[in-house]
Amino acid sequence: VTGLSRRGLIAGGLCACCLPGAAGAQRISPSAMTPLIGKGYRPVDTDEKGLWSRVERIEEEIAGSSLRVTDPALTAYLSGVQHRVAREAEGSVRLYVMRSADFNAAMFPNGMMLIHTGTLVRFRNEAQLAGVLAHETAHYLRKHQVRSWRDLKLRSDIMSFASVGLGLAGAATGIGGGDLIYSLNNAIYLGAFAYSRSLESEADAMSLSLMRHGGYRPAEAPDIWKQLIAERRASAAARGKRRRRGYSVLSTHPADDVRMADLIASTEEMADGRDGATGEADYRVAIAAVRPMLIDDLVKLNDPGSSLHVIDRLAESGWDGLLRYHQAEAYRLRGEPGDVDRMQASLDQAVAYADAPAEAYRAQGYALLKKGDGAGGKAMLGRYLAARPDAKDAGMIKFTLAQ
Ligand SMILES: [Zn+2]
Repeated sequence: VTGLSRRGLIAGGLCACCLPGAAGAQRISPSAMTPLIGKGYRPVDTDEKGLWSRVERIEEEIAGSSLRVTDPALTAYLSGVQHRVAREAEGSVRLYVMRSADFNAAMFPNGMMLIHTGTLVRFRNEAQLAGVLAHETAHYLRKHQVRSWRDLKLRSDIMSFASVGLGLAGAATGIGGGDLIYSLNNAIYLGAFAYSRSLESEADAMSLSLMRHGGYRPAEAPDIWKQLIAERRASAAARGKRRRRGYSVLSTHPADDVRMADLIASTEEMADGRDGATGEADYRVAIAAVRPMLIDDLVKLNDPGSSLHVIDRLAESGWDGLLRYHQAEAYRLRGEPGDVDRMQASLDQAVAYADAPAEAYRAQGYALLKKGDGAGGKAMLGRYLAARPDAKDAGMIKFTLAQ
């Protein structure tokens, strides 16, 4: 689990990796981590076989879920990156991309790996993607699921974990069928596999050596956490501001800071921790087709503190029409004093880019009409119609243009 879920953001860390760990967990050196299983591993013990068969049933639901993103080019690309960091897990991992704007990924004992689209939207390069895939792969190679499962069984806690998961997911979702099952089981397993801090330290340490093995720059891994911690602060600050003026929520979970510090120390310990590929251009090309959907989903979460932060970070690699349009949307949703002007400034910039989404022309068209610029507004609405002739609101736009 690599999560910083929305639930984690709001409730303060239900997500496994955000849970406070056992006190005094020591940083583990990447060189100390070796795989505990060989290639093509199959379970031997009865309890592990039972665990696998439960997960196989969940995998059937996942595979048929409408939340699954099945874009063949995207999934082939992601599997290719996972392949580079797989080592003994090569050929054993099946990657499922699930449409959810939360930052999360999870590994299951039978080789099923889930990654949320909200994780993909936050990466700035392929090395960061490789870092998360390597972290999940490390959970598999170190048999963390089975080790946690046995530990839980020993403590006879599994039922209470499962019921907590069910209750939470039930309250959080109103969707049915496979998606409900996905949510329930996701919650159960995220809960049941709330790895101890020491297992997370193992996965973090091993992820760095897997990244190096794949030719990626290990130092990108702590940067993911740095970004997530900053995002969480931005989200908390914005939400605090909405509730009560002057309310300051600038603290973050100490476990996240420790984790980032450990990752930095480990990359510095590696002689070549700052070497290797980042693959920024490759990553942008690979996710280009789904990027509009990913950013739209993120902004629609209506957590402007978080989405504005992510957009700013992505823009460090260069602004474009898509980012400017969604920045305008986030300002509109935030609605703080001055945000109307900020939204307008972002829209002005968005429509100047050749890659502006059609929605930017529509928003700008209505904004100009509102300001009394009839000709300018109609020109923008015309551009929207030209780009989206079959839009649901095409009739309404035509009506406006005829006025
Ligand atoms: Zn993890």
